[in-house]
Amino acid sequence: MTAEIIDGRAVAQDVRGRVAAAVAARVAEGGRPPGLATVLVGDDPASHVYVANKRKACKEVGIRSLHHELGADVAREELVTLVGELDRDPSVDGILVQLPLPAGHDSDQLLGQISPRKDVDGLTPMNAGLLAQGKIGVAEALELESPDPPAGLVACTPSGVMELLRVSGAQLEGSEAVIVGRSTLVGRPLASLLLAANATVTVCHSRTADIAATCARADVLIAAVGVPELVRGEWVKPGATVIDVGINRTEAGLVGDVEFDSAAARAAAITPVPGGVGPMTIAMLLANALRAARANRSD
Ligand code: NAP
Repeated sequence: MTAEIIDGRAVAQDVRGRVAAAVAARVAEGGRPPGLATVLVGDDPASHVYVANKRKACKEVGIRSLHHELGADVAREELVTLVGELDRDPSVDGILVQLPLPAGHDSDQLLGQISPRKDVDGLTPMNAGLLAQGKIGVAEALELESPDPPAGLVACTPSGVMELLRVSGAQLEGSEAVIVGRSTLVGRPLASLLLAANATVTVCHSRTADIAATCARADVLIAAVGVPELVRGEWVKPGATVIDVGINRTEAGLVGDVEFDSAAARAAAITPVPGGVGPMTIAMLLANALRAARANRSD
């Protein structure tokens, strides 16, 4: 079997187009364009590139980008005050604090300043809790057309994975889904989304006794580990759908967490790295900024 390649760039472009259309319709009806504030602390080159890409993407779909850049030595209190001010500012619909923060800053404390309705990363305890309790799920993660304020905001990368699974036509209900990785950012919210889609979900981590045998059961196999090619092709069940969230910079270039060629020889469908999950994260961020604007009743 040679797997169908799931084209994340094309799926992300489709989401961006739908967000742009919804923003244009909102403005045509006399509404404000959504406003997304980004907060970047320190000089980590990767974080600078990520934020620049997010701001460029906002511009392309008509979302206003309000940017705040601070040195790594900024006082903790100053940063907390800034995020608090953005949270109270009615012209700011969504707030994104680029993580990780430099040493000495407490990301939990900072995220605590963000109201759930402005939490476009879906990382505040309220939004993460709503997802974990099943009060929000796949519909909330993927809808773009509803004029109503959302019941909560879902983390961007896991939402992006669910959109790729939707477009690929993978059968989720009744399937065995295995996620390798249990981070707050990816593995855990994804487990909640797959449960909401009625998959039977297993989450592997660094202490899992037999990852190979667990992966071999998976109809849907998702790797979010951060270890280049940890998931071997021979672990893939023939006919499975494989989603590779990993982005690892190696001497050979960017590689995922899945051994691509041997996995693609067994899977029915697979995401490449780059060009798979990566482009989805920003697309889903734009979608969350649009939803956050619908939740902002100040205008
Ligand atoms: P993370 O916070 O470092 O979590 C990694 C998870 O993998 C942990 O749960 C860890 O287990 C598990 N793990 C580590 N080594 C393992 C091993 N040898 N066997 C089994 N499990 C192992 O990472 P993350 O933020 O979830 O990111 C994961 C990957 O996705 C990274 O490559 C990252 O760059 C990428 N990523 C991509 C996007 C995107 O937009 N495409 C977004 C976010 C992340 P323990 O919990 O036991 O330590």
